[in-house]
Amino acid sequence: MDSFPIEMPEFRPGSVWLVGAGPGDPGLLSLLALHALRHADVVVYDALVDERILALVHPEAVLEYAGKRGGKPSAKQPDISKRLVVLAQEGKRVLRLKGGDPFVFGRGAEEALTLVGADVPFRVVPGITSGVGALAYAGIPATSRDTNSAIAFVTGHSATGDVPDGLDWTALARLPALVLYMALKHAGPISQRLIAAGRDADTPAAVVSRGTTPHQKVLETTLGRLEADIAASGIEPPALLVIGEMVRLRSLLDWQGGGAMVFGEV
Ligand code: SAH
Repeated sequence: MDSFPIEMPEFRPGSVWLVGAGPGDPGLLSLLALHALRHADVVVYDALVDERILALVHPEAVLEYAGKRGGKPSAKQPDISKRLVVLAQEGKRVLRLKGGDPFVFGRGAEEALTLVGADVPFRVVPGITSGVGALAYAGIPATSRDTNSAIAFVTGHSATGDVPDGLDWTALARLPALVLYMALKHAGPISQRLIAAGRDADTPAAVVSRGTTPHQKVLETTLGRLEADIAASGIEPPALLVIGEMVRLRSLLDWQGGGAMVFGEV
């Protein structure tokens, strides 16, 4: 598809497009993202970008990997930002491709600030964040009138790799629904903090792993059993922790029919 039914902005040489690739399924790309994939000279991509999406890149485009893979240390964030500036200053059309949405726990803001500092023109193309897309594919509505009128997106991982202490866990425990990114490793301390802050251990919880991909897995459990069931299931990252009554609706709304990994008493 080289022509679109609507007019697309020009991808100018010397500019950077910060593009969200969505959670995995290529069908969830935006038309702007596809346009960028077709016109970029260089694509600087992260570990979470699905291979089927990279396959859509223009055949002459150069693919540059900027994430962590095979135990190698990840490229340092300032280095990635500087690399974007250098490529743009060489006159390339630079596509910075990130999983989900670039501004949701994606360090897109840091990169955009570096581009501003270097006077490099840029555009941001939002993507479907996994906290929305992977939930929908798991049959868990992010909100519903009967279950939750608020939902918070939370990171379970601080810059130092610990459970974020800067967060007010007591306030989070009072919210009806939480979606935690980068939290699989810290599910134990996170659920303990929420329970200690007054959240009922029987609150429905789910883990959605590799959501929207052919490898999607969903674990249904409760806040109190979260850590043990994660360990028993061997469920793997990237994964989201989902906490709240809306998880129960999955029993009716699992439109993919993938079923769930269920442990312990049901
Ligand atoms: N910018 C991304 C988030 C990057 S942080 C976004 O908007 O989705 C990385 C975290 O995102 C992972 O640790 C995991 O919690 C979550 N994640 C990303 N893709 C996912 C997927 N396909 N399924 C489940 N979780 C995913």
